[in-house]
Amino acid sequence: MGASALYYLTRLGCTDAVLVERGTLASGSTSKAAGGIRAQFSDELNVRIGLECIRRFENFGDEPGGQIDLKQWGYLFLLSVECDRAPFDASLELQRSLGVPSRWLTPDEAKELIPGLAVDDLAGATFSPSDGYATPEACVHGYASAAVLAGAEIAQGCAVERIVVERGRCVAVETALGRIATERIIVAAGVWTRELAAGAGVRVPVSAERRYVWLTEPTSGFPEELPLTIDFETGFYFHREGRGLLFGGRETTIDGLAPVAAARLPLLAELGVRTGWSGLYENSPDHNALVGCLDDPEGLLYATGFSGHGFQQGPVVGEHLAELALGRATTFDLAPFGLERFERGAARPEHNVV
Ligand SMILES: Cc1cc2nc3c(=O)[nH]c(=O)nc-3n(C[C@H](O)[C@H](O)[C@H](O)COP(=O)(O)OP(=O)(O)OC[C@H]3O[C@@H](n4cnc5c(N)ncnc54)[C@H](O)[C@@H]3O)c2cc1C
Repeated sequence: MGASALYYLTRLGCTDAVLVERGTLASGSTSKAAGGIRAQFSDELNVRIGLECIRRFENFGDEPGGQIDLKQWGYLFLLSVECDRAPFDASLELQRSLGVPSRWLTPDEAKELIPGLAVDDLAGATFSPSDGYATPEACVHGYASAAVLAGAEIAQGCAVERIVVERGRCVAVETALGRIATERIIVAAGVWTRELAAGAGVRVPVSAERRYVWLTEPTSGFPEELPLTIDFETGFYFHREGRGLLFGGRETTIDGLAPVAAARLPLLAELGVRTGWSGLYENSPDHNALVGCLDDPEGLLYATGFSGHGFQQGPVVGEHLAELALGRATTFDLAPFGLERFERGAARPEHNVV
């Protein structure tokens, strides 16, 4: 998110922006993500953001530039008979009204896309062919390189230790490498936003949830163009990663996930697991983004709480942060994602979370 915001700041003419990263670029949740990109959400704002982000990922090679390995092989949500179909009916109607090419598939149609899929207990599936996935780190480096070429600065290995507020206004950040005077600070520190913002007196209700993914040995047992597939009830998901499969779920061990995964995709049980890793979801109370700009302290902006769909919202949210920081008109109205929604009783739960 930080790299995208930095890029859009430069595009809007700001050439003295600094990105301060405590580790290395993309070393937080972003490099751990499965890379999924979709417009199949239940919240209208997420659908609109999804459509626009898909468009920008499609054009990433031209702007900002770089190869992100985008695979538009669709997203498939599998619904077992136990799942409530009504929210998906409503989401599909909404998505289609906004131009998303999503549709219902029968269990047999889902099996045509994924031979070997166990479908006996499925009620149906929803599919959108323009969804897909890309390589998150490549996106970060694309944005970061373009921003640096346009004059921005990136300080890696440099932790922000404190946001300095005087008389209700942001005036500086203190970092491991010294103080940077600034009136506008975008805190896009993933799950760590909570503690950074707390230091400036702001409560950001984001909580960390560790999630695990694994990568199999190469397999020719599936078609090359496999959709990113999610078993909605269990949270088990998979997509192609090179010649193997990447898969994950809610379980924290491979032994815990194996029976769930094998029940849906029996062939998986025959594949060796080559490696695995884990990363942190930054969950918000309603599983929707926390994005906005504060009056108190003045000049503090935040973006976190993406609850498993933050990588894909980078293009639109990064641009939005840049516009807010520079006091420009915003391309998207993301005010409903502001922190104050919880005080106003205006939480907006996203149903299609993985
Ligand atoms: C297993 C897994 C699978 C996922 N799959 C998907 C998916 O398919 N699609 C999708 O859209 N999203 C997915 N996500 C969610 C996605 O990864 C996140 O929502 C997104 O990467 C958040 O990006 P960010 O830039 O806000 O945070 P991060 O990527 O966490 O970046 C925050 C950065 O802030 C830095 N930082 C922290 N504290 C400080 C400090 N004090 N000073 C300086 N720097 C600091 C960190 O080092 C880090 O680099 C997944 C997440 C996980 C864990």
